Amino acid sequence: METEYDIVIIGAGPGGYVAAIRAAQLGLKACIVEKDKPGGVCLNVGCIPSKSLIHQAGLVAGAEALRALGAQVDLSGLDYCKAFTASRKAADRLSKGVQFLLKKNKVDYRAGTARFASARDLLIDGADTVRAKAFIIATGSRPRTLAGFDFDERTVLSSTGALMLESVPKRAVILGAGAIGMELGYVWNAFGTKLTIVEAMDRVLPLEDAEAAAVVRKAFEARGVQFITGAMATGYDDGHRIRTPAGRSRQHRPVIGQGSLANRAVAGTIQLASRIAHRHTGSRGDTSLD
Ligand SMILES: Cc1cc2nc3c(=O)[nH]c(=O)nc-3n(C[C@H](O)[C@H](O)[C@H](O)COP(=O)(O)OP(=O)(O)OC[C@H]3O[C@@H](n4cnc5c(N)ncnc54)[C@H](O)[C@@H]3O)c2cc1C
Repeated sequence: METEYDIVIIGAGPGGYVAAIRAAQLGLKACIVEKDKPGGVCLNVGCIPSKSLIHQAGLVAGAEALRALGAQVDLSGLDYCKAFTASRKAADRLSKGVQFLLKKNKVDYRAGTARFASARDLLIDGADTVRAKAFIIATGSRPRTLAGFDFDERTVLSSTGALMLESVPKRAVILGAGAIGMELGYVWNAFGTKLTIVEAMDRVLPLEDAEAAAVVRKAFEARGVQFITGAMATGYDDGHRIRTPAGRSRQHRPVIGQGSLANRAVAGTIQLASRIAHRHTGSRGDTSLD
């Protein structure tokens, strides 16, 4: 079955679903194709569940401050699984909200993996075809692997795997002290993980203001988190000891808290799209605004 639209958006993350709704509001016949859940990384395995966990971790961390004020605070029975469940509920509720908004604004929703069959035809799951005058590729990104640390989601976890754990590990190493690594670190530390964070750059939160980053580091250290900065982790051994060129190692379960890599899995899409839209993509699938 082939349907023709004014515009088809690939990917129902924050980039895609907002564009689709706006297009429909402006009178275009719009369709959105999503291979996973509405809301993309942000709502399902990114911003929303992580902020839910951070909020709950903040409540736990606040217990110390209350004790300092003389309050008797009893944390017995504290159960990370309950925090995890709340984070999933928040993610699912918002994902359903996006689906509702798409419907309300008369955007056709197609579940499935899209790939271009031609400059005007999109194949969904290799079967259904949709034709459009214009396309928006909003396929987002996925967690970036580091050399020597392939994700198996048991020993080496991506941020997605880490967010889907129902209990926190006793000990862990987080690779990368960027926003994602530090956020995960904050949550796990509050729930009792003994944590080391390794960062290749010479300071934590290398993209943020240096003075603010130093304050954050100090606060983490006060809560028992150890940092190894200026050290690139190159692999790990059978005992889960992380290797760095300086030979430093910790016996922990490694976790990746690295950034994201652009999704290029829409076979042929990026090349085709860059030809159509005259855009160039870098080695990581990134686009430039120049
Ligand atoms: C742990 C974590 C925490 C984060 N916290 C924050 C935060 O607090 N604040 C913030 O601003 N950002 C945060 N981010 C980043 C944020 O999630 C992304 O910037 C945002 O999701 C990007 O939106 P997007 O629509 O471009 O892509 P995505 O959200 O990645 O959505 C792309 C969608 O495209 C779909 N797709 C891909 N290929 C195909 C295909 N071939 N066919 C059909 N569908 C396809 C995917 O399934 C996905 O649903 C966080 C990210 C992570 C991982």
